[in-house]
Amino acid sequence: MRNRPTSIGAYARSFAGLVTLRFDSPSADSGSFLVAVTERGMPATDVLALLKELRKDDLPTHGGTTTAYVFDSGVPGIDDLAAAAHAAVASVNGLDPMQFPSVARIQRDLLDAVIPKLGGSDTAVGTVTSGGTESIMLAVLGARERWRANGGLGTPQIVIPVSGHGAFHKAAHLFGLDVVTVGVDPETLRADADAVARAINDQTAIVAVSAPSYPHGVIDPITEIAAAAEAAGAACHVDACMGGWILPFLRERGVEGPDFDLSVPGVTSLSVDMHKYGYVPKGVSLLLQTSAELRQKHWFAHSDWPGYSLVTPTLASSRPAGPMAAAWAVMHSLGFDTIGELAMRAHGAARSLAEGVATIDGLRTIGSVDSTLVAIADDGALDDPDIRVVIDEVSTRGWFIQAQPGYGSMPPTAHATLTPAAADRIPAFVEVLRESAAAARSVGRVKADPALVAEASSWDVASVDATEVSNLVDKAGVVGDQLPARKAAFYALIDEVPPPVANRIMMEVFNRALAREPR
Ligand SMILES: *Cc1c(COP(=O)(O)O)cnc(C)c1O
Repeated sequence: MRNRPTSIGAYARSFAGLVTLRFDSPSADSGSFLVAVTERGMPATDVLALLKELRKDDLPTHGGTTTAYVFDSGVPGIDDLAAAAHAAVASVNGLDPMQFPSVARIQRDLLDAVIPKLGGSDTAVGTVTSGGTESIMLAVLGARERWRANGGLGTPQIVIPVSGHGAFHKAAHLFGLDVVTVGVDPETLRADADAVARAINDQTAIVAVSAPSYPHGVIDPITEIAAAAEAAGAACHVDACMGGWILPFLRERGVEGPDFDLSVPGVTSLSVDMHKYGYVPKGVSLLLQTSAELRQKHWFAHSDWPGYSLVTPTLASSRPAGPMAAAWAVMHSLGFDTIGELAMRAHGAARSLAEGVATIDGLRTIGSVDSTLVAIADDGALDDPDIRVVIDEVSTRGWFIQAQPGYGSMPPTAHATLTPAAADRIPAFVEVLRESAAAARSVGRVKADPALVAEASSWDVASVDATEVSNLVDKAGVVGDQLPARKAAFYALIDEVPPPVANRIMMEVFNRALAREPR
């Protein structure tokens, strides 16, 4: 990839500096150096040193300053335990729980512990998946099959509030459902239950709700919506990927809020990500369902070939046991008391952050802190700081908050997922935000370059020439696969173009990041 700031030369030189095995002229021709490394191999210590080197430009994964993507419990030793548990079963194949009974046991133990905490009855069941997206995809697939089995004809539909996660849209795309989106209440940003009820019809296979929603951290009116789904014979999935391992512990400790779990009449499934507030490395989520019959609807079996009988409860066939073992180990090591304390710490951190933001001139939060997520907006006047500039200013001060676009009447926001590791640092974070807001106010509001907006908005994304997309991405300040250091104008562009165009632009950036680098 041309223009990649970590050039192939720098990359190869980092090899040369670290490895004990020497090559003839490592810096002269970096391409041939890499080929030589690949051919001859390297000692394990060198390989590991290189991996460490590769991570030096990554966002920090620990310490709480990265308020998206990563989940740090802050508990000493927990990461080492997760890694050791992962390693202990790394060679096992989760494909066949009869041949590897440990895999069956680990899953059963996890589900037996989690299902009652999330309102599941004795007949509730579950599936260990690779992540929230897979849990949601399986819920949608199962609901589609159930809808067909109940006589559904034509194209099934999913009804989803606009605040629902993209994983539902991905599932609809892959499994052939139409998506019917409905609005949220403009004040609370919770799904509009009446609008959901009106959108449900004979084609509705499944209705999606969130606990809480990713963009604004609010719990939808699940009781009303699940009742409407049930009345129409549709499934209702609660996306508790974020809140599923926080909210039960908050409720036990007296934090009140709307009902959200499997005990709500009409709820048929719920997803909870262990690789979020289960504090384990990525690759493990749980899909809980109210009956084994519903669970079997997303299974696939095949014996009509001369090979083994394939039965797959998940999307993958051969599958790792490491992530589930890590979740099992961390859960049993921490125990519910500590997991509950950690949940309170994360929730407390989110609340203090929201309170702190309220004291900052020009900033506010929208939605509400129902769990551990905070959405920060600017006050919106021309002389107020632009939240997208605030995000840039925050990153120069060592913290990371995630840019979220505006949508309808909802303003652009910065998303913060609070973890226990951040809990003691909230006063410092609020000061960073205060300074950032002041700095952003003097920068002024950003606007995307109108010429770029006009050009991109004119694309027919199905047929636009790849070179044209690439040129525009260059003009938007992207160098190779690196967004500009100050990203506000880029995000303004993404915000101002139609969503299919935004998709096309972001796919070009990903395309560059994932491009080959021929040797
Ligand atoms: C994280 C998340 C998902 C998707 O989960 P992945 O683990 O990233 O696949 C879905 N919904 C919500 C609310 C989430 O927070």
